[in-house]
Formats: sequence, structure tokens, C-alpha cells
Amino acid sequence: MAEPAIPAQPGKSLIAAKNLSKSFGAIDVLKNVSVSIDEGEVVCVVGPSGSGKTTLLRCFALLEQPTGGAVIMRGKTIAASGASTEVRQAAKRVRSDIGMVFQHFNLWPHFTVLQNIIEAPRRVKGIGRAEAEADAVKLLEKVGLADKRNEYPSRLSGGQQQRVAIARALAMRPSVMLFDEATSALDPELKHEVLLVMRDLAAEGMTMLVVTHEMGFARNVGSRVIFMDQGDIVEDSSPTSFFSAPKTDRAQRFLRQLQ
Ligand code: ADP
Repeated sequence: MAEPAIPAQPGKSLIAAKNLSKSFGAIDVLKNVSVSIDEGEVVCVVGPSGSGKTTLLRCFALLEQPTGGAVIMRGKTIAASGASTEVRQAAKRVRSDIGMVFQHFNLWPHFTVLQNIIEAPRRVKGIGRAEAEADAVKLLEKVGLADKRNEYPSRLSGGQQQRVAIARALAMRPSVMLFDEATSALDPELKHEVLLVMRDLAAEGMTMLVVTHEMGFARNVGSRVIFMDQGDIVEDSSPTSFFSAPKTDRAQRFLRQLQ
């Protein structure tokens, strides 16, 4: 049986990084980063290439082990350096509550669209086939691809594959969705259809952390913008103030370079 979803509580911290650091060998990629994401917020992470955006997201997704500090979800530590058994167990409990969409869609090529979506709910949550399929069809309707349910990924455009990847992540009924440059690998005309699906998800109240180069999305859909540079969060503000009056030289330079 699927666990009942925990009702959203707007204004309450859902997931947070506390003094988070991550080094790869001698390279300090995240330097003492602290940020909290409330339920229902859409936080867009922007900044120059190599500033640590993906690494921050991967720490939230429990795909990287912090070298310092912690990731906290609903008040419980779910990742920390030298994680204890208690932390590892907490991580195990929330893993399927954190959905992730990657730049490269990573669909299973030998599975149809429907099989791609039902695989994790069936295997991880033990949901019966009929229920998982009914759920998958609803999710495919949401992303506008119900008619593609029996296709294989190779027969779909990049934009369609990414929409399937979003549906696949949603099938686990996550409380938060993490997007890592979800449109960067797509041709300009295909980005739009994926951004629309993400916008709809935001409008439904999904908590989202979105690493993106799409400044239009950050400005129009984001409830907050985080600007990272050299492993630090340099600005954390509303889209309006970030785009119209960035406070730091570094953010001003970054925005000028985009023009
Ligand atoms: P961004 O998403 O802002 O482009 P990343 O988080 O991808 O930044 O990378 C930040 C820095 O960390 C880069 O210098 C990158 O080369 C380095 N880095 C990321 N992952 C690894 C890894 N697995 N091993 C070594 N260095 C890494």
C-alpha cells in the first residue's frame, strides 16, 4: 500500500541545508551553505557554471555525502558527514519523498513510457500493477502524453522524454521536486513544453528547487532566487529584487553577461 502523503504546510521548512560543505579532494565545491525551502516554495538556483549549483541539488537528493554540515528534512537530519546509523535510516525513509529530474532524462530504453513510470512505485512502494498503471496514466495526462504510454523512449522527442521523466519522478508522490538543468539539453523549441509542465506543477503548490539557466522561468515562476558563486550563496531574494536590483557586484556581472 502507498503511504498516505503528508499534507503540505505552507510557510514551514520542508528541506534545508545547514552549514553544508562538500569537497572533492582538494576542491571545496560548497562552502558552508545554509538555505531553507518552505513547503510550496519554488526556489530557483542560478549562477555561473562551476559555482556548485548541481552539487547543492545532489546533496539535497542524497546523491552526494556532505563533507561538513547537514541536510535536514522536516526537522530530521537526512545527510551529514560521517552519517550515523540514525541519519542513514532517516535518509532511507525519505528517499522516495524527494523527486529528481536530471538534465539527461535517463529513461530505461527497453521499457515503454508506462513501464518507465510504474517501475519504482511497484518495486519500491509495492503498489499493485493496476493501481500503478492508473496512476501513471493520470500523470501522463498531466504532462500531455497519455497517447504515448506504449511507446519506447527512442520514439519520443527530447522534450517528450523529459516530460516522461517528470511523470516518473511524480509517480513516487514526492514532497519536493529537484530539477537539475532539466531543459539545458533540449533544443529551444522543446524547452518550452517542459517549462510549461514545470510551471503547472509550481501552480499546483509543489515544493520545487530548480537549478536553471532559464531566467524567464526564475523571474516568472520562482518564488525565490538563489544566486551562487564559487560555492557560496551570494544572494537569496525575491525574483523581482534579484532581477531588477541585484545587490552584489557578482550578481550584477552575472546578469549583464546574460544580456
Ligand atoms: P554548477 O552546477 O554550478 O555548474 P557543479 O556543482 O556541477 O557546478 O560543480 C562545481 C565544481 O565541482 C566544478 O568545479 C566541478 O568540476 C566540481 N565537481 C563536481 N562534481 C565533482 C566530482 N564528482 N568530482 C570532482 N569534482 C567535481
